[in-house]
Amino acid sequence: MPADKPIYIMPENVSRVLGRDAQRNNILASRIVAETIKSTLGPKGMDKMLVDAIGDITVTNDGVTILEEMQIEHPAAKMIVEIAKTQEEEVGDGTTTAVILAGKLLENAESLLDQKVHPTIITKGYKLAEEKAQELLQDISIKISPENEELLRNIVITAMTGKSVETEKDYLAELIVNAVKQVSVNGRIDKDNIKLVKKRGGGISQTQLIQGIVIDKERISEEMPERIEGAKIALIDSSIEVKSPETDTKISVSTPEQLHAFLDNEEKVLGDMVEKLKENKVNVVICQKGVDDVAQYYMAKEGIFALRRVSKEDMEKIAKATQGKVINSIKDLNSSVLGNASLVEERKDSSGESLTFITGCENPKALTILIRGGTEHVISELERAIKDGIGDIIASLNDGKIVAGGGAIEMELSKMLKSYSQSLSGREQLAVEKFAEAFESIPKILAENAGLDPIDILTELRSKHDDNEVYAGLNLFTEKIENTFENGIIEPLKIKTQAIKSATEVTIMILRIDDIILAGPESGSEKSKLPGMGEY
Ligand code: ADP
Ligand code: MG
Repeated sequence: MPADKPIYIMPENVSRVLGRDAQRNNILASRIVAETIKSTLGPKGMDKMLVDAIGDITVTNDGVTILEEMQIEHPAAKMIVEIAKTQEEEVGDGTTTAVILAGKLLENAESLLDQKVHPTIITKGYKLAEEKAQELLQDISIKISPENEELLRNIVITAMTGKSVETEKDYLAELIVNAVKQVSVNGRIDKDNIKLVKKRGGGISQTQLIQGIVIDKERISEEMPERIEGAKIALIDSSIEVKSPETDTKISVSTPEQLHAFLDNEEKVLGDMVEKLKENKVNVVICQKGVDDVAQYYMAKEGIFALRRVSKEDMEKIAKATQGKVINSIKDLNSSVLGNASLVEERKDSSGESLTFITGCENPKALTILIRGGTEHVISELERAIKDGIGDIIASLNDGKIVAGGGAIEMELSKMLKSYSQSLSGREQLAVEKFAEAFESIPKILAENAGLDPIDILTELRSKHDDNEVYAGLNLFTEKIENTFENGIIEPLKIKTQAIKSATEVTIMILRIDDIILAGPESGSEKSKLPGMGEY
C-alpha cells in the first residue's frame, strides 16, 4: 500500500476531539452546569425562571428541576445532570450540592492537569479521598431516633428554607413530621404512602394533613349520596357487572326460554351482589375497573357511594389507609376485607372540580397531604419543598444519622481530609488535597449567595474548625458562624454521602475520557460538533 494514501477507519463526517482538548472541553461544559445553578444554593439562593417551548413557566430554586428543564445537550454536561437525577431519586434533596461538588472537583482536577499531573494519578487520589471521606462522615455524623421530633422538624425546616414557601415552614414541618410518623411501619417509611394532592385556591397555610386518601374523582352517579358517615368500604379490582354479557348481543337468544334463563341469571347475579353488600353493610364501593349500569343503578338505590376506574396505586393506598384489603369480586366480601373511614365525601372546590375525600381513618398507614396555594407556581414549588422535607426525614431515619448544615460538615470534612493527605506520599497527595479543598466551595457559595464576604467567612470557619469546633457553620438566619447543629440547621447524612459518591464517580469518569468521537448526521456532509461548544 502506498505510504501517502490516507487510511480512513471512520466515515468522513465523524469528528474527534482528542487528549487535553477533550478533557478541557468536558470539564468546561460540566463547570458551566455547576456555575449555572450555584446561585440557587442555600436559604439565600435565588430562583430561576424557566420558560419552555410553549411558554409554560416554572419558578424554582430546585437544582434537579432547573437542570431537567434546561435541555442540556453537551454529553459531559448531561452526565452532570444525571448525578442530580440520581441524587433526587436516592435522597430527594441535595441536588445542587452534588452538582456544585462535581463542578469543583473537575475545576480542581484541571489545575492539576495544568501542572502536568497525569489523569490516572488524579483519579486514583480522588478515589482514595472519596473512600476516606465516606469513612470520616460516618464518624462525624450524629445519631437520630424517630422519637426526636424536635430534630426531625429542624430537618424539614432546613430542607425548606430558601424555597419561596418558607413563610409557613414551622407549620409545614409539624405537618410533615406527623405524616411521616404515622405511615412508619416498624421504623421503615415508604414515601409512596404519603400522597400529595395539589389543589389550587386558598393559601399555603391551608395545606392540610388528611387522615386518609384524597382521590381526584367524583362518584359514579349523581343519584348516589355525596356523603357517607361511618363508611364501610369494599375495594374491588375487577369490573362489577350484573348484566350477563349475552343479553347485549342479539344472536344468542332464540327462544323465550333462553331469554328467561339469561334474565334469571342476571337477577341471580344482582341478587347475590345485593345480598353480599347488605350482609356486610357496605356503603362505599371503590372499583379499579368499570361498573355497569345495572350495578350502578342498584348501588344508587341502596344509598351506596361508588367510585370507578380508580388507579391501582390509589387502591393500594386506600387499603393501607382504611385497613381494608383489595379483593377480586364482590363475591369475596367478608368483614375482614372491608376498609373503615369515618367519612367518605365528595367535595367541590371553587373551580368546580370534584374530589373524593376518604377521611377519618384510624391509624392510617397511608395518608394525604392536600397542598394548597394561590397560584399554580406556588403550589408546584410547595410540592417540591414538601417532597424535599419528606425525603430528608426518611433519609435521616433510614440511616439513623444526621449532620450539621450551613457548611459545617463540609468544613470539618475538608480539614480532616487535608490532614489525611499529609499521611500520603507521591502525587496522589496533591489530588487528595484538591479533593479536600472542593468541600469549602459549599460554605463559600452559601456566603456569596447571601451577599456576605466569602473570604472572611471561610477564614473564620477554618479557624473555628482548627479549634475543634466540629459543628461550626454559617447560620444564615443570623449571618454568623455558629454551632449550626445546636441552632437546628440539620441535614441527613445521606445527602452528603450520596452527593460525594456521585460527584466523585462522574468526575473520575469525565477525567478518564481522552477522546470524544462524534458521529455525524445521518446524511449530508456537515461536520458534527459538540453542542454549544463550537467545532474542533
Ligand atoms: P440542595 O439542592 O443541595 O439541597 P439547597 O438550596 O436546598 O440545595 O441548599 C442546601 C444548603 O443550604 C445546605 O448546605 C444546607 O446546610 C444549607 N442551609 C439550609 N438552611 C440554612 C441556614 N439556615 N443557614 C445556613 N445554611 C443553610
Ligand atoms: Mg435542598
